[in-house]
Amino acid sequence: MRILIIEDEKKTAAFLKQGLSENGFVVDVAENGMDGLFLAGSQSFDLFILDVGLPKLDGWQVLSTLRSQGVTTPALFLTARDLVSDRVKGLELGADDYLVKPFAFSELLARVRTLLRRGLSRPVEHLAIADLEIDLPRHKVSRAGQRIDLTTQEFTLLVLLLRRQGEVLSRTIIAEQVWDMNFDSDTNVVDVAIRRLRRKIDDPFEHKLIHTIRGTGYVLEPR
Ligand code: CA
Repeated sequence: MRILIIEDEKKTAAFLKQGLSENGFVVDVAENGMDGLFLAGSQSFDLFILDVGLPKLDGWQVLSTLRSQGVTTPALFLTARDLVSDRVKGLELGADDYLVKPFAFSELLARVRTLLRRGLSRPVEHLAIADLEIDLPRHKVSRAGQRIDLTTQEFTLLVLLLRRQGEVLSRTIIAEQVWDMNFDSDTNVVDVAIRRLRRKIDDPFEHKLIHTIRGTGYVLEPR
């Protein structure tokens, strides 16, 4: 099990690294948000432990960037702040747990073990492309941080496009997957649904994500 600690206080980082290593974890340390983001994006980890107050990029910025890139690795925040609003903010940005400094190492270890167990069996809950994010269990969609309300059908269509991002999907495939029906004779219904979805997730934004492939179907990708 490999853990990335992003913490600028050298003493805390060293203490955590030693304790976790003694408990059998492989530990890497980044001392600022930029290095942490780089390491997290270029190597594979089972858990992130992030300090909130970090130079260059704070812990929240690091995690929200990783989540928007589709990185679902569990994240535990360490913070000196104990405000409910901070806690809520952290959880909304995709933190899995929160520990207020100062904390006992045994408490941290227990939380780490719980997160790692959960992480192994946890289904994908967040999907993202560019600045568009979907929270599957809560049926929440947002783009550039703005909440977007979708009907159940629009939501299902978007999840299909996102799960198969970069792949051109024919109208027939979309009709089968979203409506569970065969629309061979009238795939116009797909075009209408795509138009409605575009109005919500693409029209208000500069960079379009849904693209029409003439004579074939549709693809969701950043261009
Ligand atoms: Ca700090």
